[in-house]
Amino acid sequence: MNVIKQTSAGGIVFKKFQILNSKFQIQWLVCQHSQHGGWVFPKGFVGDNDPGESAETAALRETREEGGVTAKIINKQPITVNYSYLWKNQQIQKTVHYFLMEYISGDPKDHDWEMSDAKFVSEKEVVDILTYQSDKDAFRQALKLFKF
Ligand code: ATP
Repeated sequence: MNVIKQTSAGGIVFKKFQILNSKFQIQWLVCQHSQHGGWVFPKGFVGDNDPGESAETAALRETREEGGVTAKIINKQPITVNYSYLWKNQQIQKTVHYFLMEYISGDPKDHDWEMSDAKFVSEKEVVDILTYQSDKDAFRQALKLFKF
């Protein structure tokens, strides 16, 4: 069987909402994949349009496309997830580099067709809604990098 290695990049994006005077609430961006139906973070193929694209640029682009929002990377150290699946009788071995990002602007409702839904949810809801264990583990690592 053919084995194909692919690299994707994406964003674990938080948004600070001011609630009372100087108090903030934090929410996180999650998306539902149109094809497999899983709840995931926005991500996609590095070099989709430009073969020289960096993981950081791809992560920001995919966050805009699939998550509908513009964000900035706040920690350049990626959180890396690996998984594999079968596609047309080939084994795809995928590596995904997620970057911790802070929301700047935009509305998750403006996600593209690759996702059927995108929304900001609380920390507890993220853990409940994510479909894959590797994404839950990546989220726990993102929380460790998360200082504000
Ligand atoms: P990309 O967004 O990287 O271009 P894609 O949208 O084409 O990829 P994936 O989201 O990687 O596709 O899904 C391909 C297969 O892998 C599906 O069967 C999906 O259920 C499975 N999958 C997706 N994410 C994970 C994960 N974190 N762990 C295990 N399996 C996953």
